[in-house]
This record gives sequence, structure tokens and C-alpha cells, in this order.
Amino acid sequence: MTIGSDLEVVDMDVVLDLRGLDALIRVLAQDGRVVVGPVLRDDAITLAELGSADDLPGGWGVETGPGHYRVRRREDEAVFGHSAGPQSWKRFLHPPRRALLSSDGTGFHAAPESPVSYAFFGVRPCDLAAITKLRQVVGGPAPFVVAAQCTEPGEVCFCSSMGCGPGAGSGYDIALTERVDGDGHRFLATSGTEEGAAVLTRVPSRPAARHDVELADRDVAAAAGRMGRSMPEVDLRDLLAANRDSAHWEAVAERCLTCGNCTMVCPTCFCVSVEDRTDLDGNAERAQRWASCFEIDFSYLHGGAVRTSGASRYRQWMTHKLGTWHDQFGTSGCVGCGRCIAWCPAGIDITEEAAALARTGGGRP
Ligand code: SF4
Ligand code: SF4
Repeated sequence: MTIGSDLEVVDMDVVLDLRGLDALIRVLAQDGRVVVGPVLRDDAITLAELGSADDLPGGWGVETGPGHYRVRRREDEAVFGHSAGPQSWKRFLHPPRRALLSSDGTGFHAAPESPVSYAFFGVRPCDLAAITKLRQVVGGPAPFVVAAQCTEPGEVCFCSSMGCGPGAGSGYDIALTERVDGDGHRFLATSGTEEGAAVLTRVPSRPAARHDVELADRDVAAAAGRMGRSMPEVDLRDLLAANRDSAHWEAVAERCLTCGNCTMVCPTCFCVSVEDRTDLDGNAERAQRWASCFEIDFSYLHGGAVRTSGASRYRQWMTHKLGTWHDQFGTSGCVGCGRCIAWCPAGIDITEEAAALARTGGGRP
């Protein structure tokens, strides 16, 4: 039995109502996990610790576009009826700032590790793929993952053309598919691991009927056809390699503010910088913080920055993300979540820039 194009049911399919969803959050917390999921905060869907299903953004959706993000009321009470928000799960797997070493004047000590057992709740398939890519780099303990298959793509989404959605491929413990219709508000729950199956036996549910699975399958397939954008169907790695000297980079640089927003919101960008702080009492700390390839100092080598122009920095970002990531990790660095488009203050759209390069065919326009 399958739901979505590539999701194999491993163990069991059941249907939860909102009471079952609430019980699922509580069971995960009872087992000692910090359950993190989407909440409505500061006029955006952000990620925070969940105490119950009441914390989820029921009835809220989002409206997105290049340089544009607004929450909006939905006509139903769907809790996963929103596309990607400004935050991603990166901030939990790879915190924005992390102490490495400290000194109180008696010597340097490694910062104490305090690993948290997370349950990520409501992970969209694009972000599921991003978690896999990011953990290839940063490692750390695997979170328990409750995925939410996408039935509500946004205007800036293109996961379908990156092969990262809208169905959850792999890497989840439980996958949910939400549906709100005349038969009520419910979630088809599919286990992807033995641990996920064991958790599902502890929450109130009913067995899934073939009809439930068929509806989920149909909703996810329909989402694939409603993506707001797509990447051009070319070999992006070859395209970027062929366009190293394209004049198009200057055209992007005329709009790009080199603010680094795109790298901060990207769920797979992992670069860090290490900085030391001292005070007059003899205390010192070495910490790492997120860095961006758009910072002028990012390429500082032997007395100067290598990438001094905005054109060279945008080219670096896009070439790594879509091209040389393949050489490093055997896959693209982009999952098609669309965050870099929505949160770019200049509205620069990575799919349009790739299409523009594809049109010029590697030469100067
Ligand atoms: S592409 Fe947009 S978000 Fe990224 S650095 Fe340039 S202006 Fe900022
Ligand atoms: S490059 Fe943009 S669309 Fe791709 S994963 Fe990063 S933020 Fe999402």
C-alpha cells in the first residue's frame, strides 16, 4: 500500500482525529523528548516547543511570493495548512551560536555538551530532505520525526522539481496526511520505523480504510501539480559550471543587497565562523556562529577577501547550492522550500536566475 508517489507503508496506517494528534504530542513528550513544531508567533509560522495540539497554528495559512510572506486565515482549521516559514529545523540541529571552549583564567575547557532528544513535529517533505542533507554535515543525534505530507504548497515552492516532495520519501518515523472535509478533521498516520509504529499504538486511532489512503494519495498528487514554481529541467551542475563567466552574475548583483538572508533561512546552508571573546576579568570564550558566503569577510585569506563583488558572492552561493554540492555530497543542496525567495528583500528568485542562465546557454547574454 502506498500514499504519495514514493512512500512505502512499512508497518501500519491508522487515522487520528485531533484528540489523537494531541495524544501523539503528549506521548512523545512523556518519553522525554522536546517536541518542536509549528506555532503562530509574531505574524509568522515559526517553530517552538509544543505542549499540546492547541499550540499548532490551526486555521492559519500563509501567502508567499518573491520578497513576500504574510499569514492569512484559512477557511478551515487545518493545522498543517501552511508552507515553509522563516525558520527551519536547522536552528535545532545546528544552532545559530554554539560555545566551543571557555576559560575562567585557570585554563581552557570544552563547552559542556547537553544533547537534547528532539521530536520534530509537522516536518514538511522539503524539510525532511533538508534534515537528511544537513545531518550529513553536522551529524548529531537523530531526532524523532513526525512528517506532515504536503497538501498545501505555496507560491514560492518547487520541491517537486527538486525531487524532495510533496510526498515524504524517507527519513521519518511517522508521516501524517491531514484532511478536513465533511467527514471531519483527521490525519492518516503511517509509520516509517518500528519506533514510530510503537508510538502509534499508544495514541487513540482507528484503522485506516482503503478510502483514507486513496484520499491521501490523491491530495498529495494534487499538491505536486500546484507548486508555484519549478527549476528548469536541465543539468544544474553542468549549467553552473558552464556559466562561471556569465555576465548574468552582474545583472543579479545589481539587485542583490548581499544581506545574507537567503543563507540564514536556507535549511541546508551550514557555514560557520569561529570567534573569540575575552574580558578584563580573565574570562574567554570561543564560539561558532552561523556565517554567510555573502559576508565580505567570508573569503578573507592572507590579507584580503577573495570574493569582493556581489556578483562573485551570489555566484558562489548558487553554484555551491545547485552545482558543487553534488561533488561534495552526491546530491543537490537545494530542496525547493522557497524560503530564499520569500525572504529575499530584493525578491531574487533562484529558479528565475537558473532559468535565465539556462536561456543564455553558458555564454554572455
Ligand atoms: S539574494 Fe536576496 S537574500 Fe540573498 S543576499 Fe542577495 S538580497 Fe540578500
Ligand atoms: S536554496 Fe532556497 S529553495 Fe533551496 S533549500 Fe535553500 S532556501 Fe530552500
